[in-house]
Parts: sequence; C-alpha cells; structure tokens
Amino acid sequence: MKIWPCVFALLLPAAAARAGERRPALQDLRRLAPQQAGIPLAAPGQPALPYHRIAQEAANPDSYDENDAFRRKLLDARNSDEYFVDTDLGGILLVVEKNYLNARQIAQLVSDLRQAVYDIPRLTGRPPLVRKRFTVYVYDDGPISEAGVPGAQPGETGIMLAWVKEGRSPIFHEMTHLLAGYGASQSLAEGIACAVQGRLRPGQASAPFMVAGANPDKEAKRIIAEDPPGLLEGLGEPGHYNFSSQHIRVDFYWASWSFVEFLLRKGGMAKLWTLIDSGGTPQAYRKIYGTSYDALFADWKRKVER
Ligand SMILES: [Zn+2]
Repeated sequence: MKIWPCVFALLLPAAAARAGERRPALQDLRRLAPQQAGIPLAAPGQPALPYHRIAQEAANPDSYDENDAFRRKLLDARNSDEYFVDTDLGGILLVVEKNYLNARQIAQLVSDLRQAVYDIPRLTGRPPLVRKRFTVYVYDDGPISEAGVPGAQPGETGIMLAWVKEGRSPIFHEMTHLLAGYGASQSLAEGIACAVQGRLRPGQASAPFMVAGANPDKEAKRIIAEDPPGLLEGLGEPGHYNFSSQHIRVDFYWASWSFVEFLLRKGGMAKLWTLIDSGGTPQAYRKIYGTSYDALFADWKRKVER
C-alpha cells in the first residue's frame, strides 16, 4: 500500500463496523437549483436530473489511513464542489475537485455511479452492504482509487476515484468492494472486482492496470510461465499480501481475475460468493465445488496454458 498507494485497497471490517449509526443530516443541506449550480437542466418533457449541486456541508471524516489529510483538504469548500446523487441506497455525496470535471463529465460520472448501484447487486446476487449515503471523492492528482475509506461524516463510508476525467476510473471495481464485500481472501476479492468491472465495461481500459481489450487468461498464461515466487501459491487462498513491486501486484490481480473467471464458469456467482464469504479455505473449496483446491487449481492452470 505504501509503495503503490492503496490501489484497490480492502474494505476493512473495521471500516464496515464504522459504517455507523449516525445518519447524515441531509435535510440540513441547502439545495441549490440546478441552474444556480451551473448544471444543465433537463430538456422540457425529460425527467428531472438525478443529481443536483448542494452547498458544501461541514465535513468530519473519520481517521483511517495515510490519505486522511488528502480527503479532508478535498472536502474543504474551497477545493471541491458537492453534489447529491439520488439512488435507491440513500444517495451519494459526490465530492469533485474544483475545476476538474465539466458538466458533461459529471453527468456521465453520475450515470456510471447510478448504474453501479443498480447493476452490481443484480450481477453479483449480493444484497448491498451499504444502505445509507456514502461519499465518492473525485480528483485529479492524488491517491489511486480505493474503496472502504471514510465518508464525509463520522461512520460513513466511501470510495476514492482517480482517472475519472480520462474515462479510465475503476468505478465498478471499487463499487463491487463497497457494495458486495471483500472477505478474507484478497485474491478472490480483487478477482471478482476485476470480473465485475470487465463485465460492465467490456474491453474498456481502467486505471491503473486494466488495458483496453484485457484478457486475464492470456496474462495468466504469461504469469504461469514466469512463475514469480509465491504468487501462484496465493491464488484464491485466504490472506492479504504485501507486494514487492507494482509489477507483482498487477500480476497478482491478473491471475486472480483469471482464476475467478474459471470459478465462475465452474460454479456460477452464488457459489463464488459462498467461497468468498468463507475466506477461500481448502475445506470451503471441497464443500462448495465438491473437489479439492489443488484439483481446481490444476484444472485452471491446464486450461489457461492451452
Ligand atoms: Zn480492488
């Protein structure tokens, strides 16, 4: 996380626990009419926009990691504009660095976020873990995207999104961590998040590593041939890792994505999430797939190496 800051960091149980009781005082926010906020109005006869700019609220995010100061600075009214995005899950506080996105780019971002809230629970078959307002931080120069960070108010959660302007933000990856969960296996969690991103934006590049037209099995074949020490042994298994380099981390994500796609072909989404919830233990593999982890791993390897 230090070497390559917080790429797709985990949704820590502590953060989930902190996703606390206090409700944001949305009713206290002074809502601006869209035209006051420089947002295009919907054309006559069109439905109202699903978002609007709001007056900056006094933020009080929880402490969490080395990006606390960055988030607090961004939440300052001098540095960002805030929007309320309407969703079925209590809405989103969207915090956008000043002068970073134009109105069209904000509208696209809102559309993507609302799609994520709608599609990810359906695609994963998981009831959303977050059912109250969360914060989305959007900025130009700053930390790499991350899920499970503190939201604007105590007890709230959120995600950080980089590369939005370039259209390469891993929105669906991070929203999968946030809404569907993470579990005790980093490999399975990152694998499913990549798989969801790949399904909802097929062929599209997303920072920092997913190139346009990415093929995880092809990358996995290369990684199997290179066999970096310790990497393949951790695939689909319990645990979180400190990576010795960006390169190793990216390869771990590629191989995990390929392995998760294999498991999805094998048993579908529901079995995969049962496995993720169980942390990816050898006993869980046997119980869920009726065969050992070693046999599944060998089968995956054989298919990828073809
Ligand atoms: Zn991730």
